[in-house]
Amino acid sequence: MYEVNEICKDGESLPLTTDGRLRVVFIGTGSAFAKRRRQSNMLIIQGDHHVLVDCGTQGPLALTDIGLNVLKVRCYLPTHSHADHIGGLEEVALMNRYTPNSTKPQMIVLRDYQDSLWTKSLSGGAEFCEANQGRPLQLADFFEILRPKSIQFDGRKFWEYQHGPIKIDIMRTRHFPDTAISVDESQWCSGVMINNKVWISGDTMFDADYPARFAEIAEIMFHDCQLFYGGVHASYQELMTLPTSIREKMFLYHYGDNWDKPETWVNDTHEFSGDPVKDGFLGWAEQQVAYDFLP
Ligand SMILES: [Zn+2]
Repeated sequence: MYEVNEICKDGESLPLTTDGRLRVVFIGTGSAFAKRRRQSNMLIIQGDHHVLVDCGTQGPLALTDIGLNVLKVRCYLPTHSHADHIGGLEEVALMNRYTPNSTKPQMIVLRDYQDSLWTKSLSGGAEFCEANQGRPLQLADFFEILRPKSIQFDGRKFWEYQHGPIKIDIMRTRHFPDTAISVDESQWCSGVMINNKVWISGDTMFDADYPARFAEIAEIMFHDCQLFYGGVHASYQELMTLPTSIREKMFLYHYGDNWDKPETWVNDTHEFSGDPVKDGFLGWAEQQVAYDFLP
């Protein structure tokens, strides 16, 4: 059971605690280059724990939309190295290190991905910051690292981290390059399952087995969705090939700025309307509302 609730009524900031219920707030639902919506980053909150899954270039701005900032969010989980997912992490790192009385935020990250996140992306702006630092700074100088453990499920490899009441299962996706035919050929990219209840695909090309594997256990699924066919995301057209039983528990996110103008992306050859509710999905995921899950 879930309900969709309004947040930040009368301009109040979003509390980073709940009465015990699991709460999911997309601080953005748009694609990498979206201008009408923020990028697809999401806050998971339960009890007195929270984690921000991804903090892209618009992430810090999206936090201000709901009365928060990178000093208030204390735990981050980056899914992969595209800028709409990690472009805000330099601000997180530097603001927390150089704001008086601030402490290190936490980051949930696998060891292998930690190395590439730092050496290929974040180190350029953060490695040398201080006159007398003595050695190049490392990711662990900016974040308290929380390490998921490797588990086997259904014969496949996953990683799990228990963050207070929030159980996070991390699984690899096939996102880029677009020529990759398996996750092993892909750059690191991941999706998450929260409390065996909420599945968030993460960025991924269409891979029918991937949602199917989680559809039986997930109560609600969020799938990334691109309005055109091809490239490195699942297209609306491809998602339409999923069985009704899966589509009917699925919201779509990571959509382009013309999501609500189907006449610009649906043509006569398509056998769908471009209105996800009419097409058998739960709908477009909405940003800056709470998806609250009852125990
Ligand atoms: Zn991506």
